Amino acid sequence: MNLDSTLKPVLTVAGEYAAHVDAEGRFPVEAVSALAACGLLGLTLPERGGGLGAGPQEFAHVTGELAEVCGSTAMVYLMHVCGAMTVLAAPPPGLPSLTADLAAGRTLATLAFSEPGSRSHFWAPISQAKRNGGEDVRFTADKSWVTSAGHAGLYVTSVLSADDPGTVDLYGVEAGMPGVSVTGSFRGLGLRGNASAPMRFEVTAPDATRLGPSGAGFALMTETVMPWFNLGNAAVSLGLARAALKAAVQHTSTARLEHTGQTLAELPTIRARLARTSLQLEAATAYLRTAAASIAAPDDHTPLYVLGVKALANDTALTVTDDAMRVCGGAAFSQHLAIERFFRDARAGHVMAPTADVLYDFYGKAITGQPVFG
Ligand SMILES: Cc1cc2nc3c(=O)[nH]c(=O)nc-3n(C[C@H](O)[C@H](O)[C@H](O)COP(=O)(O)OP(=O)(O)OC[C@H]3O[C@@H](n4cnc5c(N)ncnc54)[C@H](O)[C@@H]3O)c2cc1C
Repeated sequence: MNLDSTLKPVLTVAGEYAAHVDAEGRFPVEAVSALAACGLLGLTLPERGGGLGAGPQEFAHVTGELAEVCGSTAMVYLMHVCGAMTVLAAPPPGLPSLTADLAAGRTLATLAFSEPGSRSHFWAPISQAKRNGGEDVRFTADKSWVTSAGHAGLYVTSVLSADDPGTVDLYGVEAGMPGVSVTGSFRGLGLRGNASAPMRFEVTAPDATRLGPSGAGFALMTETVMPWFNLGNAAVSLGLARAALKAAVQHTSTARLEHTGQTLAELPTIRARLARTSLQLEAATAYLRTAAASIAAPDDHTPLYVLGVKALANDTALTVTDDAMRVCGGAAFSQHLAIERFFRDARAGHVMAPTADVLYDFYGKAITGQPVFG
């Protein structure tokens, strides 16, 4: 498979609708359909299960390329892959065709982890499942932000375990189950099309829809979700940064001060700022590639890359998109350069859990020999 030629038509569609998706705050249905049609929703699922059998490096590439044209589409894609990889790690026996449906793009997945009570501490749901007779649990879980809310077919949902309330369980909750509802709307500063609305899951869930054995949720979140999410989220951040910088270089290289005969890029302060921000982006991109390679072939250093890659990329994207705004002046403040969209979209990455500041704390604990979740 030639990944770039598979991706090309998706990028065309995503690019065509990106400005409307942002302006209207509407879900990028066209781009998500295009991703499903060309098999990319199954990118990282094994070929024997109907996927394309690719790994973290290809995933980071695709996610970053999507972000360069439409941040909302890239985030929807990232959440789908995270949901799909969690299902792959612990397929719920009661949903036997799920992996094939995710691979074929018949089902869009997402994660319903964050709760108003524990805020960005996604690993610590407050919602409590209770035994409902023999092989079912019942829970009411209010989730504060769910990307693709109302559009996904599968919500990987976290609750405190009915069997041991000190542990976490993940359930595969299908959109059609009674008691699944979107309880608000999403109007964000950026990523305005990704439908990250609050949801309520007031459901009876069979044990057979749980991912893994009872109490396995925390390990799935930290060992499966975190590597894929942090890597993909980093790729989104750097894709947005790349798009902003390209637009800034293009604008400053062509916009002229007619009375001096210079382009903006001929001003030493502007070209120096472009140089500095470009080098920051190059350095973070090199780190992202190293992190992706490490996640693809894990060793003792991989946990640090998992913690470091998202924080570094999120903060690099904040700086690069800010610099892109600055060197382009009022032209960037208006919408025709699209830089302000990349600037707004890039502000989401560092507040998405695990937040950049939480990751710095975890990374600091890891390098000083303290327990990360202690
Ligand atoms: C566009 C978007 C899409 C999202 N999609 C999803 C989704 O699909 N599924 C999902 O489950 N969630 C999703 N979220 C929620 C996200 O993952 C976070 O849970 C949410 O953004 C946290 O917001 P908050 O106001 O609760 O942050 P708070 O937890 O209140 O954080 C406020 C500040 O405190 C800092 N902070 C908190 N704890 C610590 C600590 N221990 N050390 C240092 N600093 C700390 C944070 O870094 C932040 O700067 C999404 C969020 C956004 C913005």
